[in-house]
Amino acid sequence: MNIPLVDLKRQINSIRQEIDLAIKEVIDNTAFIGGKFLERFEKNFAKFCEIPYAAGVSSGTSALFLALKSIGIKQDDEVITTPATFIATAEAIVNAGAKVKFVDINPETYNIDHNAIEKAITNKTKAIIAVDLYGLMANMPELKKIAEKYNIYLIEDAAQAHGAKISSKGPGFYSDIATFSFYPGKNLGAFGDAGAVISKNPELINKIKILRNHGRKEKYIHNVIGDNFRMDPIQANILNVKLNYITEWNKKRNIIAKKYKELLKNLDIQLPHIPDNYEHVFHIFAIKVKNRDKILSYLKEKQIFAGIHYPVPLHLQPAFKFLGYKKGDFPITEELFENELSLPISPELTDNEIEYVVESLKNAINI
Ligand SMILES: *Cc1c(COP(=O)(O)O)cnc(C)c1O
Repeated sequence: MNIPLVDLKRQINSIRQEIDLAIKEVIDNTAFIGGKFLERFEKNFAKFCEIPYAAGVSSGTSALFLALKSIGIKQDDEVITTPATFIATAEAIVNAGAKVKFVDINPETYNIDHNAIEKAITNKTKAIIAVDLYGLMANMPELKKIAEKYNIYLIEDAAQAHGAKISSKGPGFYSDIATFSFYPGKNLGAFGDAGAVISKNPELINKIKILRNHGRKEKYIHNVIGDNFRMDPIQANILNVKLNYITEWNKKRNIIAKKYKELLKNLDIQLPHIPDNYEHVFHIFAIKVKNRDKILSYLKEKQIFAGIHYPVPLHLQPAFKFLGYKKGDFPITEELFENELSLPISPELTDNEIEYVVESLKNAINI
């Protein structure tokens, strides 16, 4: 057996004909920039999210940057986020000209600790970016209360959480604006880079539609300085096909996660926690183990490609040295990233493969 962390081939094979047709449709229409396939995607994606407005953009990273621009983030503003995320979350804050302020995570959900946020708020704080890490939404209802109390924006980085829910409400319901990535390995993945933003506020989405396209409403009139962060219509039309399957794929991920949890329950491992009323979408099946690096290389010998998300917390990344943080500043994040192991998970993973991963993991723990 050879078990990759994410298996894209099986999924593509299962819908190959539809995908080929979707690509052909865009080519036959020479609709290569903007146009009806993008508009169809925006409508479909908004519907899937149950949020009225969506805009397709070039990546999850540009989605974050545009979200910050749309709320008017500028020089010297402060934006609070977590160091337990992919670098793009904090990178976008710096690129928008603002200052990053990190707050540690909750040890069970691994998402930003809402109880620690108020201490980090100053009169310069303009927004919080919550991250729905591994496919579990952050405590958005509590974060919304804090954002309202201090009159600051709440942005949700839902790059890993397409279809996740709290009390039946997904990303973008509790936040002012939510951002998504369709990087190929994400739960809803394109065949290249792509992203989206969603919001209940049409003004924010309109601003983003202008900013993503050189600051223009009309072809040659540019009212503001924008950039080129447009979504490729070929990607949009591929996602139009995949949107018909994402709910089923997320269900399969949950079935796999349940099997992993059942088979791993009596071991010295911290398993993913799902609070009441939350629906996880298991972009990543993250466990905490002792001797992580030994286990990782043992599994690799067995052709099982587990991963680490992520090896280095953002406050300790060389690129963020200028922020002045040091080791020990965010102990819960540091402990997570020292021990976290991501087991292979794709909707197509078979029972045999799950059992093989579990048996190998048990052997790895015992050596
Ligand atoms: C993938 C990811 C991003 C960046 O998305 P890209 O499409 O790769 O630019 C941002 N935030 C998180 C949490 C991610 O997982």
